[in-house]
Amino acid sequence: MVAAAPLNPVEFVRHKREGGEHAPNELKAFIDAFVAGNVADYQASAWLMAAFLNGLSSKETLALTEAMLHSGDVLTLPSVKAPRVDKHSTGGVGDKISLCLAPLVAACGVAVPMISGRGLGHTGGTLDKLEAIPGFRVDLDAKRFERIVRDVGTCMIGQTSKLAPADRRLYALRDVTATVECIPLIVASILSKKLAEGIDGLVLDVKCGGGAFMKDLKSARALAKALVSVGQGAGKRVSALITDMSAPIGRTIGNALETREAIEILRNAGPRDTRALTLELGAEMLVVGKRCKSRRAAWPLLERALADGRAFEVFRRMVKAQGGDVRTIDDPSRLPQSKIQLVVTASKSGYVTAIDALALGKLAIELGAGRTRADQKIDPAAGFELRATVGERVARGGQLVTVHAASPALAKSVEARAARAFSLGPRAARKKPSILARVG
Ligand code: URA
Repeated sequence: MVAAAPLNPVEFVRHKREGGEHAPNELKAFIDAFVAGNVADYQASAWLMAAFLNGLSSKETLALTEAMLHSGDVLTLPSVKAPRVDKHSTGGVGDKISLCLAPLVAACGVAVPMISGRGLGHTGGTLDKLEAIPGFRVDLDAKRFERIVRDVGTCMIGQTSKLAPADRRLYALRDVTATVECIPLIVASILSKKLAEGIDGLVLDVKCGGGAFMKDLKSARALAKALVSVGQGAGKRVSALITDMSAPIGRTIGNALETREAIEILRNAGPRDTRALTLELGAEMLVVGKRCKSRRAAWPLLERALADGRAFEVFRRMVKAQGGDVRTIDDPSRLPQSKIQLVVTASKSGYVTAIDALALGKLAIELGAGRTRADQKIDPAAGFELRATVGERVARGGQLVTVHAASPALAKSVEARAARAFSLGPRAARKKPSILARVG
């Protein structure tokens, strides 16, 4: 760890404003002083904008990540003897993969300590999906987290106030100063939190397309490369998949609905694309965790753990250990259900050529499945169930999607816009491959 240099906040901001490069000990001094309250929010905001406009070199990004990582506790999980690998997704619509992936990988001998976030904006969050299970606790302390990872193989909790506090405070400033969309700042933010989990390796799922942060392959590749290079620079085994986010993943959007789909996958069923993405990321995690030499060798291990029920059993044990009602796992019809289920139909016949993930993600917020402010309450039962997906044919009057809502008025208010999220054409479009590229 580098020692902090003396800091003059004004000179520090000026240096970046003039396009200069900071030394690692200067970045450490800045982060330490900011967390200690010796750099004002307006000075930190000015620096964020200077960094946004002038960029950070890869050396600076690594130093910033390490300074933010060491701004709080860094878990080491000494009692967990298995290799420890986590997955991070940059956020998508219908992205329930963590829920089925972590137990699956744990069932194959790689521990998955997972500290996740809540949904903000049109992308959902793993914690909200897990909390659709009555009683499920995501606010466990570090000791209990370690015990469950050791005994069950995986545990999924929320970020504590002690992990990477610099990120929480800087992110709050970025959110209100138009400095979120900056690759070096995103990289330092994501990795400082993930590296605090005590992992040996990390697999990144960088989403690309209309429903993602990164809309095109070029920007997704730039983010993936930066994440992999800084993660490796911090001494971890890291790889990234760039995956398609032009249409929602699987058949469900919304917390309880997505939890139900994840359970289907763990029961060796469920939508083909959700299963394929789970297996692709799982294979990557088994290679990063050195459990398998190649992705090809990992694939049958993962398929077996789904087929013989071991992956489901790990999930069940994790839910029990985290206080969740396992009866809802054994019988997902016990998960929260909306009173109103409105079927949206097609006004003409044709093949579904595209589904606007961003539009459905935004409508899901209106239904109460997501939030636009961190303090908003959500409706765990609300969301969408796709009845048709890309490549499928629908007749005029045929079902496109079911809206799950708390009231008829709410369901009706999104009906027409939900229908417009589906593009219909005369010929079957080929669905984009789930995996667009691999980095690392
Ligand atoms: N997710 C994060 O955790 N941080 C960012 O800066 C962007 C997305």
